[in-house]
Amino acid sequence: MKDLKHIHYYEELLEQANNELVRKAKEDGGIAVGYTCYYVPEVLLNCGKAFSIRLRAPNTGSLDISQYYMSSFICGYTKALFERAFEGGYNFVDFYASSDTCQQMVRVVENIHELNLIDNPQFGFGIIDAPLKVSPHGIKFYTDQIRQNFLLPMEKNYNLDFSEEAIRAAVEEHNEMCAAFEEISDLRKEDNPKITPREFHILCLVSYACPTSLILPYLKETLEDLRNREKDPEDKWRARVVVVGSELDDYAISEMFENARCYVAADRYCFGSFPGRQRIALKEGEPALDQICRFYLETNQCPRFMSAEKVQGRRDLVLQLVKDYRADGIIYEQAKFCDFWGYERTLNTQVMWEEYGIPTLGIDREYVVQGSGQLATRIQAFMESLEIKKIQKGGKGK
Ligand code: SF4
Repeated sequence: MKDLKHIHYYEELLEQANNELVRKAKEDGGIAVGYTCYYVPEVLLNCGKAFSIRLRAPNTGSLDISQYYMSSFICGYTKALFERAFEGGYNFVDFYASSDTCQQMVRVVENIHELNLIDNPQFGFGIIDAPLKVSPHGIKFYTDQIRQNFLLPMEKNYNLDFSEEAIRAAVEEHNEMCAAFEEISDLRKEDNPKITPREFHILCLVSYACPTSLILPYLKETLEDLRNREKDPEDKWRARVVVVGSELDDYAISEMFENARCYVAADRYCFGSFPGRQRIALKEGEPALDQICRFYLETNQCPRFMSAEKVQGRRDLVLQLVKDYRADGIIYEQAKFCDFWGYERTLNTQVMWEEYGIPTLGIDREYVVQGSGQLATRIQAFMESLEIKKIQKGGKGK
């Protein structure tokens, strides 16, 4: 297929956290709000002149300094964030909206604060205490936490506008972006899809790593380009999978899937599109803030929630994605030393196969996946096993 419009520009944008569009938004007087987790409602960070940046640490090399401060037994994502902050790579961040959803992430924020790592005179941060249950009380608690720890300090320190009108305007813009993603995502349901896993991953990442208002016009043009794109004459994919798991912001893993001719039909990982790139339906007569907080808590798929209904709800969503996106298997991926996903991956790799009959592979990985021969071999072997199953059912191998 012909290269997608803007794909090389997107790759350039993903080369650094403080990319061209972030710099442009700051020059125009924007307030950069960094965050790392779905517990922090992205849309609220895009009110008025604020803009959200889901933090990544592209081109991470040595993690020696973060290991010294935080030990080796914590996930690569948190180490990479600390290391990048230490190098001065997040000095453009004005406010860091964090959550105590995982203790490893809290240690990053604490270290950034204690060591005074962000060289920005107006830098501030807030940490929310997030509930473990979705209940009326939990939703109220969560909403209050967001108001007290994010909205009020940002309003006071940067004169930001979190009025009902400003919040609804942010939702409107967010929904425009999500509508484009819903259409793009649907293309993955087709045979011989018009979009590759690597391309989809890149689109998703730029949408998180750039100011929404500035990336949206580009994404709309890419959508138009996709509508008119001619498919490759031959379907090269050996099998289709749903990828589920922890934070995954290195699209090199999608290149690895492509090299094994493994089609990622749906992405249910942090920084992916399920959840995160679906429209938020607001009704009249109830404050938008309350509706948004409820939406984010109800759609949250973090394995930190351990109540029976949430555990089953997570499996049900993955099963639904397998069905809707016609996947042959599931890959559960986990960042090494992530406790929550370690538990979820181990358990569900068994459950999905034994109880639901869906071939499932479990892998753990470093933050930077590029060059991992072991990972590539395991994905390749899984593809072969899925292909053999298809042939046994009367299908054709590739
Ligand atoms: S991957 Fe796991 S340990 Fe790392 S930040 Fe996410 S939840 Fe925390």
